[in-house]
Amino acid sequence: MAVVVLGVSSGGCGDGARRQHAVDAALKAASAALVAGDAAAWYFALPTEGASAALVVRQVNVGLARYTWTRVHAKAVPVDGKPGRYTVRFYGQLAHADTSPLVCECVLDFGWRDGRLKVVADRTDQWARDAYYLAFTDPVVLVRPHLVVVGDDWQRPLMARIAAADGQVRRVIRRLQLAPDSPGLGRKTLIYVCASRLQAFEASHAFIDKHMVAGERDGQIFAVDVWPAYWKRYASDIVRHELTHVYAGKFGDGKHYVGLLVEGLAVAVEGGYDFGPLRTEVARGNRILPLKKGLMHGRVWWDGLSDHRTYLAYLEGGALVKYIWKRWGLKSVWAFAAAVSAGDATPVGIERATGRTLGITWGQFYKGWKGYVRTLR
Ligand SMILES: [Zn+2]
Repeated sequence: MAVVVLGVSSGGCGDGARRQHAVDAALKAASAALVAGDAAAWYFALPTEGASAALVVRQVNVGLARYTWTRVHAKAVPVDGKPGRYTVRFYGQLAHADTSPLVCECVLDFGWRDGRLKVVADRTDQWARDAYYLAFTDPVVLVRPHLVVVGDDWQRPLMARIAAADGQVRRVIRRLQLAPDSPGLGRKTLIYVCASRLQAFEASHAFIDKHMVAGERDGQIFAVDVWPAYWKRYASDIVRHELTHVYAGKFGDGKHYVGLLVEGLAVAVEGGYDFGPLRTEVARGNRILPLKKGLMHGRVWWDGLSDHRTYLAYLEGGALVKYIWKRWGLKSVWAFAAAVSAGDATPVGIERATGRTLGITWGQFYKGWKGYVRTLR
């Protein structure tokens, strides 16, 4: 059987392997041209035939050449059943940032013409054009010791406000009691400032709720320039909240995602919340979002951020984390999160996690938490 497979596939494979090799070499040279800022070398690396190919190769160069790159690399993945067609992804590192995110994606047909490998057609879906770093048309990059802020030139006021929150990185690391030699302090977090939710979607392909001003995804932060007065007042708090997500990672990421604890930790580190609505909820019997149900539910969003339960979930999670932190210490917050997320999101699983990590029954814990909420202002 193995011999047959080998015999059948070797001919086609050789052809495909040769082309893949040539595509990889071309993209490597094109990536180097981007880092060098050498447009002529880019066009030499990616010769084209036909109008659509010429246009896409030009668009990607123009779009990415607006940035100054520390490093760029590209990956070409063959599209099944379409010999010569590849999904091409460029990954780029700006200003020695910690990550090399996806900065551009397109689908290209490559073919041999006159003995040379050329781009012969653009097969990129309409919705995928102008995505990722091509979503910024006049980009500027502000570099600080811990933050790299990317946005269009007309977003400069908010970009500067966010860049000024650079010191929040140290604060978050100190609050989370991360070791001084943890990877945190040496790295730079990328923050994208977008003019609208649409631009944020183009830049990240992430859904941004209409009540959202910022979000974290894969260790990167997206900020949307809505509600200028809000940003003016709370920029460093918002940055501190999102940085907590970056530095805490998925926080207790077992099989069950516990949004209440993930957001609760960020709320606790962010500070400054008015817990009045939660005090009212607890005084009325905690019926809108019972704490155990909140832990079992996983995510903290109900029907969008405007839903009252969503706001309560943030406060409940914040009060939960603050209570454990105050009474048992930060290590127990992590242990509790790990135990709850490793469980199966059932009442029994949560009770077991409470007993194992905090040493008391759920009933005792819940009573103590409610008493603590009454003291929160
Ligand atoms: Zn959050």
